[in-house]
Amino acid sequence: MKLMFLGATHEVTGSLTLIEVGGHYGIVDCGMEQGADIFVNEELPVDAEKIEFALLTHAHIDHSGRLPLLYKRGFRGAIFATEATCNLCNIMLRDSAHIQESEAEWKNRKAARSGDEPTPPMYTMADAEGAISLLRPCVYGRMLSVSEGVDISFTDAGHLMGSSSIEVWLTENDETKKIVFSGDIGNINQPIIKNPQYIESADFVVTESTYGDRYHDTAKGENSISHLAACIQRTLDRGGNLIIPSFAVGRAQEMLYFIREIKEKGMVHGHDGFPVYIDSPLANEATGIFLQADRRFFDEETTALLDKGINPLVFDGLRISASSEESRLINMNREPKVIISASGMCEAGRIRHHLKHNLWRSECMILFVGYQAAGTLGRTIRDGAESVKLFGEEITIRAEVTYLPGKSGHADKAGLISWITAFKKKPEMVFVNHGEDAVCTAYAKCLSEEYGFATLAPYSGTVFDLLECRVTKETEGIPVEKKIKKVARKNAFYDGLIAACENLLRIAHRCEGIPNKELARFAGQIGSLAAKLEGWAKK
Ligand SMILES: [Zn+2]
Ligand SMILES: [Zn+2]
Repeated sequence: MKLMFLGATHEVTGSLTLIEVGGHYGIVDCGMEQGADIFVNEELPVDAEKIEFALLTHAHIDHSGRLPLLYKRGFRGAIFATEATCNLCNIMLRDSAHIQESEAEWKNRKAARSGDEPTPPMYTMADAEGAISLLRPCVYGRMLSVSEGVDISFTDAGHLMGSSSIEVWLTENDETKKIVFSGDIGNINQPIIKNPQYIESADFVVTESTYGDRYHDTAKGENSISHLAACIQRTLDRGGNLIIPSFAVGRAQEMLYFIREIKEKGMVHGHDGFPVYIDSPLANEATGIFLQADRRFFDEETTALLDKGINPLVFDGLRISASSEESRLINMNREPKVIISASGMCEAGRIRHHLKHNLWRSECMILFVGYQAAGTLGRTIRDGAESVKLFGEEITIRAEVTYLPGKSGHADKAGLISWITAFKKKPEMVFVNHGEDAVCTAYAKCLSEEYGFATLAPYSGTVFDLLECRVTKETEGIPVEKKIKKVARKNAFYDGLIAACENLLRIAHRCEGIPNKELARFAGQIGSLAAKLEGWAKK
């Protein structure tokens, strides 16, 4: 009975943990690595077809994005997840496959031009559809047997609609151990979804640590709403557009929820019925899933709205653009408006067009409502760049650039501590993952030194025997070798010519005073040499 930690080890993305019990294998999450890759992740030590089941904490791509790849490699077991997670995966895995296919197509067009071999996409739409067909919708709080000696139950983690912590009971030779996988633990008081629910018992816990070293500046939705209202007011007053780069699933719906409330309470003055465009096909599909979700996924405020017959994500002035033609027309009319578009970090998608049309206008505003990873266009703009390149054009940034404080889908350190200290009896071991290297280490240290937990922050490849309660394979983080930048190789013979000419000039400067006859003779010789060279020089 073992756990093998493979992904999101001393990193935030690429979640993957292998379970072995009585010779049966299963996995928890199967995420894509995103952003900067710091450590090498070990591959699954068993063939994909030998994995009997997958448990999925939530739909975010860094937890679900490699399920189609697993399918491509032969995995045909069931994937257990909450109903909302299954519905969101249905659109997100297709979207991911579409991105993989178009990126491969783009790269292969380049490869064809330079005579290189084409490379296939990581996975195709057919692989994504295959993985989707394996999804088994589950409800919160109901124990379910998923394989021999494996029972599970989902608990609301309050991070994204349908997100969960998973309780897993493993039984081998009549001995049962209970492991709780935290999944991503949500922030408190987020709109639409419930607060994270606590679990009270476990023999072992695997916890995330994304914000294990930080406190959010504010966790109150109320502050976000008034801040957002002020941003809308200020921008519309000066006749500009408010551009909100947003993640399509989760954050975009929160923005709609906030704006509905802003409109209902009349928090923006003098711009009745101001238009709000939601310009992202994925966001629109996700909004549909949110609206059709079962009531048990919603918090009290949202349920109360639904009881009154109010649609929490729809309001006067909401305009949905589906086609790219509709998207293009948004910037044609000069009516001040709010535009919510994806991707959230401005790396791809329609948001880049909106930035191109609005960044240079001082009356406009770019409002960031989510995390901007280092190296992304969003981060560059947020950090105060004076101009950025978009579609080959240098765009000067004159628009106001700001962010919405307190907006995070993740619990901060206080939230993580509340979650872990809810266990009545201390688990035998708390494994800390899903945090940047320093954060993950610091949070594990804090839990052991300040709260008395036995902790381990495993690197990829570490194996822990749950019955013996000990590490059976210890690994260290292997840093991903940074790609060495190809230095453009200059021609050494050309370098030699330049050096010779510079040497000649240096010597010439020392020749003042030698006989004029000699000066004239050398000048003539160098002149004819220059004329010869001139004949070769490129125009
Ligand atoms: Zn997540
Ligand atoms: Zn995550």
